[in-house]
Amino acid sequence: MSLINRGSRSSGGGGGPCGACKFLRRKCLSGCIFAPYYLDSDHFAAVHKVFGASNVSKLLHHIPIHNRSYAALTLTYQAQARLTDPVYGCVAHIFALQQQVVNLQSEVTYLQSRLATATLPQTQHERAYNSLAMKHGSSQYLHNELAEALQQHMSP
Ligand SMILES: [Zn+2]
Repeated sequence: MSLINRGSRSSGGGGGPCGACKFLRRKCLSGCIFAPYYLDSDHFAAVHKVFGASNVSKLLHHIPIHNRSYAALTLTYQAQARLTDPVYGCVAHIFALQQQVVNLQSEVTYLQSRLATATLPQTQHERAYNSLAMKHGSSQYLHNELAEALQQHMSP
């Protein structure tokens, strides 16, 4: 269910009163400021209870038309949050989301550090080479030893 009608109905009349006028028990006139945004009288009831119909009307009039649906949606969300949680309202949601961001950021940091120190699986040749290199100290040592052995073999 959509909270907001994004302007498909621009005035009252024809299809009956908008949600706001229905709630306020008044005639919904053509050009009603609430009609495009409040189809549901329950949503408007929350908005009216928290902000007051007159304040919401004034506020919507001061907002450019292309932003009014977002403003109406925000007012409805905030009003419902305030009725659910009279002390913190939507701030409780913001705190919860901020905490979630902090937790996820620390998880990302931890995983990045794990990824930076992780070693890739070795191939069979790499394992053999590393095992030889460890046995003889270094590959340079191995090279010298082989060169020496070769020289002894070649000399008469
Ligand atoms: Zn109306």
